[in-house]
Amino acid sequence: MANNVNPRRNNIQYTRRKPKNRKNNDAPLRILMLILAAAVCCSVVFLVNYLKEDEPVNELPKETDFQQTTGEKDDTQKQTEDEQTTEKPVETTPPEPIYVPEFKADLSEYEMYMNPQGEQRDAYLVLVNIDNPLGSDYVPPDLVNVKSTRKDGRATQKLREYAAKALEALMLEAEACGVIKKNTPSGYPLSVMSAYRSYDYQRYLFYDVYLVQEMNRGLSREAAEKKVATYSNRPGTSEHQSGLCVDMHTLPSAGQAFKNEAEAKWLAENCYKFGFILRYPEDKIEQTKGIMYEPWHFRYVGRYHAKKMYDMNMCLEEYTEYLKNNG
Ligand SMILES: [Zn+2]
Repeated sequence: MANNVNPRRNNIQYTRRKPKNRKNNDAPLRILMLILAAAVCCSVVFLVNYLKEDEPVNELPKETDFQQTTGEKDDTQKQTEDEQTTEKPVETTPPEPIYVPEFKADLSEYEMYMNPQGEQRDAYLVLVNIDNPLGSDYVPPDLVNVKSTRKDGRATQKLREYAAKALEALMLEAEACGVIKKNTPSGYPLSVMSAYRSYDYQRYLFYDVYLVQEMNRGLSREAAEKKVATYSNRPGTSEHQSGLCVDMHTLPSAGQAFKNEAEAKWLAENCYKFGFILRYPEDKIEQTKGIMYEPWHFRYVGRYHAKKMYDMNMCLEEYTEYLKNNG
């Protein structure tokens, strides 16, 4: 049977071998393609590594690795981390903290009057003096009775509402602190002698009372007028017409001797907490246009401004100028 050669079968075997031979012939091409593919792969790997080198993020070790190996971070690394993790804060001016004093008395219901906010904060800064008179027809819009008017038969004094309420708070705290005593030389405790005065009343005081008194002492009209102007304001230039100030003391009548009383010292040191200023300080006579020291005269401006004036040792003339320049 071995000789029974089937030529067709031989053909088939031949045909089957043919692809093997073709495969062998393609080998160099395939090797070349493999080399090319390898080269492309190497290029990609190289490119990826090259790009990674440009990214400092990946150059840094992980935080945990860093702490384990080196402990503290050096400044450069800290800075880099900060740049990555910390957002730059937006630059804004922090709001000014609201100053609230501690009181012995419960004055919570008076807080809005002692320390007015919003539009009311700057509403009581009006400057009244020889250069800044009020009109002869100016009458404050919201006058109310002053509870601490001296009980000696005088008419109940009046102030603008915020000033009157802040003064009530001041008197309550003075009482709580033991400042208000009954055994005073006048027999009267600390109390309000004078508050709002109309234009006409100020004119009466200046010309019909004080001027006449000085002329009766022998001064000429001109000299008398000059002298009266040192302790009383001409009509229109008195702060009392504003309804924002009070004369309060423990003496029979206003006098500089009041400065030696405990009440005067307490008022001078504490009045700003209630929104008041000592309007005519001893060391500001020039700035207040020649008005002498008046330890009994207190002016309401609200706590925000009163504290600033107290802290900066400024009278109202100085402070209004300061606001113009720093406003
Ligand atoms: Zn006064």
